Amino acid sequence: MPHSTPNPWRHHFPLIDQPSCDVNRLSYLDSAATSQKPQCVIDAIEQYYRHYNANVHRAAHTLSARSTSAYEDCRDKVADFIGANESNEVIFTSGTTEGFNLLANTLPYVEGQRWQEGDEVILSTLEHHANIVPWQMLAERLGLVIKVIPLDCNGDLSIPHYQALLGPRTRLVSLTHVSNTLGTINPIKELTRLAHANSSLVAIDGAQACAHLDIDVQEIGCDFYLFSGHKMYAPTGSGILWGKYPLLNLLPPWQGGGEMIKTVSFEKVQYNQLPYRLEAGTPNISAIIGLGAAIDYLSSIDRQQVLRYEQKLCSSAKTQLADIEGINIIGEPKVQGSLFSFLIDGCEPSDIATLLDEQGVAVRSGHHCTQPLMTSLNLTGTVRASFALYNNEDDVNALVTAVHKACELLL
Ligand code: PMP
Repeated sequence: MPHSTPNPWRHHFPLIDQPSCDVNRLSYLDSAATSQKPQCVIDAIEQYYRHYNANVHRAAHTLSARSTSAYEDCRDKVADFIGANESNEVIFTSGTTEGFNLLANTLPYVEGQRWQEGDEVILSTLEHHANIVPWQMLAERLGLVIKVIPLDCNGDLSIPHYQALLGPRTRLVSLTHVSNTLGTINPIKELTRLAHANSSLVAIDGAQACAHLDIDVQEIGCDFYLFSGHKMYAPTGSGILWGKYPLLNLLPPWQGGGEMIKTVSFEKVQYNQLPYRLEAGTPNISAIIGLGAAIDYLSSIDRQQVLRYEQKLCSSAKTQLADIEGINIIGEPKVQGSLFSFLIDGCEPSDIATLLDEQGVAVRSGHHCTQPLMTSLNLTGTVRASFALYNNEDDVNALVTAVHKACELLL
């Protein structure tokens, strides 16, 4: 087996950094589900709990001032990281799912611009359930129509169909930046431009993008951008909804409680300003502080180099698997990120994943929370291999060898 080229990032991740001769060596190829955490993120969380754990914003004491300052610093870091105009455009959420629920429960209820029965939301076949179900729940309540952009035969969105779907009733186009099942990187700048030419708003699901791509919301031009910390080396329970300030400022509050108010009496409540108006209750302080550390980490490395490296590993794995008899690679998108899906002819994805796990290769099997995509592909599930900056050629070799063995056993 050829020796791996040294990977400059791998040793930052304690769970991953095991000697390649270790018989229990793990090839973690499930980063699209959640990424592993670098030592600096683990340290930031420990520091917080050891040295300055206190609730944010409300107390007069020094410890709280320290936690508030660390917590609000993260808002500034996120704003810089995605090119926001100001930190008040950054709303902390628990993840992409909560961000979409926030949006679906507020955007249609803006005073003077309430969505009406028959108004339309455009989604795509590639969407994760987090960007489907909140809109369906809303559609049931308000009598909206959900329209869906189909895929072409390679797994790319069909732009002519999209253009045909845009119409006078399209209130929102909500699309994923990167597919979590096929790895497709959508041309979101162009998709956004077309929606804006139709006077429709645009929300982008960045859950699979932020760990891999440089994000500049000004350059994309979208109105809302949502993502989860845990897929970009930060802790679970941290997430972001970014929106253009004038739009965010129109959103009515959604969850009521502490933090989101200025004054409360039994007769009347006065709401707080942004961003707090959309952040009720005690936030996940340690997770947000961990997100700040993850952003520092991502900002300290050459992200273009990382992307090229990940795509090289991903495409090498894909090409080698495609050469094995009985293997089907699912989709061949024009631009692919750091993950792909495959199947062994006639075999259950869960059986394949179990056999790979027995050989120390962690992959994901199932519908990946994209059941409508599965239906459109006439599948019930796939096996997904997803790569991150800590993977190396040994991981690719381990995957290919394990799939060969699985084929021997299953075919
Ligand atoms: N969108 C995409 C594309 C995803 O991959 C995921 C996570 N699998 C989500 C949304 C939901 O993210 P979370 O579970 O962190 O809220």
